[in-house]
Amino acid sequence: MTNSTKIKTLPLSSEACEPNKNGFCSIAVSEIIREGTGVSPGIVIGKVFVFDNKLKSIPQYRITPDDVKTEQKRFLTAVEKTIAQFNTIMDKAKGVADDDPLTSLLDVYMNMLRKSRLSRGVISRIRDNLVNAESAVKAEVASIAEVFQAMEDDYISARIADIRGLSDRIIVNLQTAAKEKTAHLPENAVIISSDLTAADTALLNLNKIAAFVTTGGAPQSHAALLARSLGMPAIVGIPDLLQIARTGDNIIIDGTYGKVILCPSQKNIDLYRKYRSDFLRWKRSLKRLRDQVSVTTDNVKITLKGNVDMPSEVAFLQQTGADGIGLMRSEYLYLNRGDLPSEDEQFEVLRKIGQQMDGAPVTFRTFDCGGDKCAEVLKSEQTANPALGLRGIRYMTKSEHLLHTQFRAILRASVLMNIRILLPMISSIDELLKAKEIYQNAAASLRAKGITLPENLPQIGIMIEVPSAAIEAKTLARHCDFFSIGTNDLIQYALAVDRSDSSVAPLFNPLHPAVMKLLKMTVDGASSANIPVSVCGEMAANHRYTAFLLGLGIQELSMPAINIPMVKERLRSLSLHDMRNYTNHLLSLSFPTDISKAFNDFEEGVRF
Ligand code: PEP
Ligand code: MG
Repeated sequence: MTNSTKIKTLPLSSEACEPNKNGFCSIAVSEIIREGTGVSPGIVIGKVFVFDNKLKSIPQYRITPDDVKTEQKRFLTAVEKTIAQFNTIMDKAKGVADDDPLTSLLDVYMNMLRKSRLSRGVISRIRDNLVNAESAVKAEVASIAEVFQAMEDDYISARIADIRGLSDRIIVNLQTAAKEKTAHLPENAVIISSDLTAADTALLNLNKIAAFVTTGGAPQSHAALLARSLGMPAIVGIPDLLQIARTGDNIIIDGTYGKVILCPSQKNIDLYRKYRSDFLRWKRSLKRLRDQVSVTTDNVKITLKGNVDMPSEVAFLQQTGADGIGLMRSEYLYLNRGDLPSEDEQFEVLRKIGQQMDGAPVTFRTFDCGGDKCAEVLKSEQTANPALGLRGIRYMTKSEHLLHTQFRAILRASVLMNIRILLPMISSIDELLKAKEIYQNAAASLRAKGITLPENLPQIGIMIEVPSAAIEAKTLARHCDFFSIGTNDLIQYALAVDRSDSSVAPLFNPLHPAVMKLLKMTVDGASSANIPVSVCGEMAANHRYTAFLLGLGIQELSMPAINIPMVKERLRSLSLHDMRNYTNHLLSLSFPTDISKAFNDFEEGVRF
């Protein structure tokens, strides 16, 4: 256990900050504490740099037909300049991880700039509407954003900000010879911004930046992605920070717990210096964990796999020593586009992942469409309460052809890779049986065409993420090959707490007695049919729940790659014997205060 895990218990004051006349907080001014969402771990003690990434005014005017060529050339020159700036960022990001999400995103931007709708659209708007390049860029981006907005999806919303940022960047490059706005960044700069797009980062000297904090943004926003790619601490979602922070203020940010301390007291500066050096020492020590086996102190092997949302994450996953992909979400295959992927396209994606994974197991989840992950083309099918509507397997068994197509792609890929299939949002045995019937039909249709499939078709497992599935686990277990517990939805549905609503976030309690009982029922159901059970929800990624989950009898966890070392370190320090006793003790408790006391006691080394 490291000191960084204890930071949350620090007694910190939260009085208002009063910057002095220069806008700088002196050490005598009371510190101010804010909490947001930590999206990239680590501690920084640095200086605020407020990054004003909003363009003040954009010149918009009409041009004559004679000016069209010049104006189009001006636009193309600005595009070239923007591409050059992105290349610089990519070079900097490359040292961190090959094929990381940031690089992939910038690749998408490059394509967007070079030959895509954005560039073509601007060129034709200049010609057809006889407007200057800035106006054309603005209009084209507004129309692209309108299409994205209609998708009402968190991931896509984050991309709208990126596209707007991209257009701001082009406009800056149109107006000026891209002066370095940030030439005077202080050492150890903590960038505070409303949001940070890939385009904004073109302006920043990344060597001088130690951390990011954004007032808006979400864990999927570009700032979060960028920070993780660069291994920089980052926090999103502190709405009033731009009102209270001034360039030059002292600031502490703790990306692990999402905590910001503006104008910190000397006491907290000293304390966080210590936490920072503990954190860095601990981070260095995690690297050596990559090649360590993931076993408990009483020698029980625990499988640790990675969750992957996009193929570009696979390379990073492999650097963490993961035992495979435990959850490959497939929704990205249809998000951000106007149609659905064909069987061949899905096969091709899988084939490439199979190549990269080189025989390691991949659990591929069929589309969990609906809810917050709806495809644009399926939008009309959505209802008023999408989380309880036609989502996941419900949608896929109703629109049978989609599941049939996806199964065929997976079956074809299974000849080339170690793959198993995971069905989301199963709430009753009927849905599972129906999906299996479609699976058999898909296999038969391929064989009828003379396509050879493996003798043993890929296993089919189900997500346990609806309370009814946990309660019916015994029955379901007899009809599938494995369970994977989706704690994000299981907790949401068991406790009636919207997983994405920050106002009820404190109620989202993984150790609520009802949730613990549902988890126990699931594990018992799986063991009654002798099938394996893993956890792929975020609970698996938090090392503070590792003991409880393994104590339940779970022997496989799947999580974002970045969390694997921490969880591995935790389980290597515990015996399964102690974890079982602890879990049994927790399961016997009903009152939240008793549960949190037992939880804290165990973390402090007490054994039951
Ligand atoms: C879950 O619900 O825990 C899960 C892993 O699925 P998703 O987060 O994709 O809904
Ligand atoms: Mg889910």
